Amino acid sequence: MDNCIFCKIAIGKIPSHKVYEDDHVLAFLDINPRAKGHTIVIPKVHAENLLDLNDELLPHFILGIKRSMERIEEKLHPEGYNVGLNHNEAGGQEIPHLHMHIFPRYLDDGGKNTHAIVNAPGGASAEEVAKLFT
Ligand code: AMP
Ligand code: ZN
Repeated sequence: MDNCIFCKIAIGKIPSHKVYEDDHVLAFLDINPRAKGHTIVIPKVHAENLLDLNDELLPHFILGIKRSMERIEEKLHPEGYNVGLNHNEAGGQEIPHLHMHIFPRYLDDGGKNTHAIVNAPGGASAEEVAKLFT
């Protein structure tokens, strides 16, 4: 993808601060960190979001996330993590190349957990929605 900033980072056309790299995955520090060691993990192959990623690459992507966390453990010794991805515009995704955010967490950092992202159940109970899955 010629115009994709994360594709350019994947091939070194745009510089980044590397945290972890293997044949399939690159992890680098977020340029606008929301936590100490805030890291972005990308598959080197362009996929817009998780549903767009080839199944065969998924285990490599997940392993790359774990390996990146191991590197962060080693260097920063955080006390916890939030790991998550923003999917599509409604999910707050700004860069349309799949990426997992790793937010190292520290007991005194004043942050919240993932439940703080949204609270809009749309008037539907879990029981009502569950009917759609039967
Ligand atoms: P989002 O698409 O909303 O999940 O987030 C994209 C993330 O990419 C943001 O947290 C940005 O700070 C980060 N970002 C954008 N450009 C760069 C870059 N050149 N190097 C590192 N991180 C970047
Ligand atoms: Zn891309």
